[in-house]
Amino acid sequence: RAGKSQIKIFDPAMRLTATRHLEFRSDLGSAIERDQLRLVFQPMVDLRTHRVVGAESLLRWEHPTRGPIAPSEFIPIAERAGLIVPIGRWVVDQSIKAASQWQERGPQRVSINVSALQIRSPEFVDQVRRSLEVHRLDPTLVVLEFTETMLVEEIESASDNLAPLRELGVLIAIDDFGTGYCSLSYLQQFPVDIVKIDRQFIDELDEETLDMSLARMILQLTSGLDVISIAEGIERPAQLRALQALGCDIGQGYLLSGPLEAEELQRRFGVA
Ligand code: C2E
Ligand code: MG
Ligand code: MG
Repeated sequence: RAGKSQIKIFDPAMRLTATRHLEFRSDLGSAIERDQLRLVFQPMVDLRTHRVVGAESLLRWEHPTRGPIAPSEFIPIAERAGLIVPIGRWVVDQSIKAASQWQERGPQRVSINVSALQIRSPEFVDQVRRSLEVHRLDPTLVVLEFTETMLVEEIESASDNLAPLRELGVLIAIDDFGTGYCSLSYLQQFPVDIVKIDRQFIDELDEETLDMSLARMILQLTSGLDVISIAEGIERPAQLRALQALGCDIGQGYLLSGPLEAEELQRRFGVA
């Protein structure tokens, strides 16, 4: 996959990775039917009112013998095996279903991570539409998150599919913003509603470094483009204060709350 005209030396450790890949791959195929997948939800907090205004759904896999497996480990395998399409369909439907049950305490958004292969699939837009209809959820309460790298690599299918998605009324977010390339030109090219500033820019942020920070520049850009800004990975109070001073709209991170079970999230809605 790395291309022609090169040599790669086999390392015995690769065999382990390869066998685990094979094992995970066959197990993942039946993970949905066996009820091993579940979603947790990380609250998104309005940095002005301190209220929970929505949540990002994050996938978890409870492996029968290996216990919980992190998405960073199994999503790349699911993508390579093409399994991300059925898994992603399940994630979209379950996330929309969960959000339809949250709405008693005022409108709350759900943010769903979407992979490259899903946006490439021509049925994706219909799937989202169908789930919205079945669970009777207002489309403006659904955010689809695409990573910046993916938008760049999938530029054609993304441009074809983003417009019909937005016509449905759902919002589009760029995830991990600032880690890919060409950020600025792509922001103009794709009609996005939300930018999620990658954790690496939040890591380096505190009240002293605020003026010189890249986070500040990204926030100037988003406010200029009238895009909602979300800071990811807020862990320290100094980062939170800096982001509030910079006028960031929404925050997410362990300081505010880690991912929660759906029932726990419902108890937190509307509460600081
Ligand atoms: P992401 O979409 O950028 O999600 C944020 C990740 O950062 C989550 O990890 C979350 O638990 C973690 N996080 C939240 N707050 C903090 C913090 O304060 N500090 C630190 N260090 N981390 C924090 P998680 O759940 O392990 O997910 C990792 C990635 O896997 C996600 O990154 C997303 O790209 C992908 N992913 C998760 N669920 C799905 C899914 O359903 N579909 C697809 N395609 N990808 C998913
Ligand atoms: Mg995300
Ligand atoms: Mg992210």
